[in-house]
Amino acid sequence: MPNGSLRLLILGGTGEASALVRSLAAMPRFAVTLSLAGRTGAPKAKPVPTRIGGFGGAEGLARWLATENTDLVVDATHPFAARMSANAASACGEAGVPLLAIRRPPWPPGEGDRWIEVPDVAAAVVAIGEAPRKVFLTIGRQELGAFAGAPQHDYVVRTIEAIGDGLPVPRLTAITARGPFDAATEAGFLAEAGIEVLVSKNSGGPATYGKIAAARTLGLPVVMVRQPEKPSVTSVANTEAALAWLAEFRGI
Ligand code: NAP
Repeated sequence: MPNGSLRLLILGGTGEASALVRSLAAMPRFAVTLSLAGRTGAPKAKPVPTRIGGFGGAEGLARWLATENTDLVVDATHPFAARMSANAASACGEAGVPLLAIRRPPWPPGEGDRWIEVPDVAAAVVAIGEAPRKVFLTIGRQELGAFAGAPQHDYVVRTIEAIGDGLPVPRLTAITARGPFDAATEAGFLAEAGIEVLVSKNSGGPATYGKIAAARTLGLPVVMVRQPEKPSVTSVANTEAALAWLAEFRGI
């Protein structure tokens, strides 16, 4: 590592983190370590040293920051990774390390959208209703099990990695695919599959918005899980703004 480089930890798992890493890898001013939760079995190789797995809560992260002489942390985690963001705010506060967060804004509802907004996945299960329906689930793998409590529906689930036995219900079609997905292809898929309602997290960003635009075109309802609260810290909305902020960063 060049002398005088800023030691930067990026908490990743998002497109923003990957893009930031690609840009910073070419800048000798920054010595970057990327941290991933390990939710994807075989993450794509990254051009910077990458560590995988939890730190052991906020205390574990604070210890890691001290041991690694970290100068700066960027929280570029997924909008729904609320625990990691809370841990980052608390650990950086404790360790006296500056923190920048990339907070991707949620999608706003537009004209023609038929959203039923809910606070969490448990509420989404209830919002689908009692009557059996054909449901398209795109909420990731971790919380799928909640829908086993509503086995009357016919589920189509799309995830990046196979769900295994993550959703034990009688009628299930499991698809693996990685975005981005465009609106026209999504509309064709929803119509062909006979989907009656979608369940989505309000992740924001363009990569997975195609299904939302497609639902609007087809007049389908979307049960939309709101983004969880994250701590209020210095934040920007995207990678470009994070790069501009980092270019100005001169230490504490
Ligand atoms: P979380 O609930 O915020 O984090 C749970 C724990 O995972 C953290 O306390 C931390 O463990 C570890 N962790 C999370 N992100 C990490 C990172 N970048 N580096 C090291 N450790 C990390 O987040 P989650 O369980 O990963 O995901 C919650 C929801 O976020 C999912 O249901 C999904 O909707 C969405 N999501 C997450 C990712 C991702 O890459 N994490 C990607 C896409 C979507 P310790 O406390 O031990 O440090």
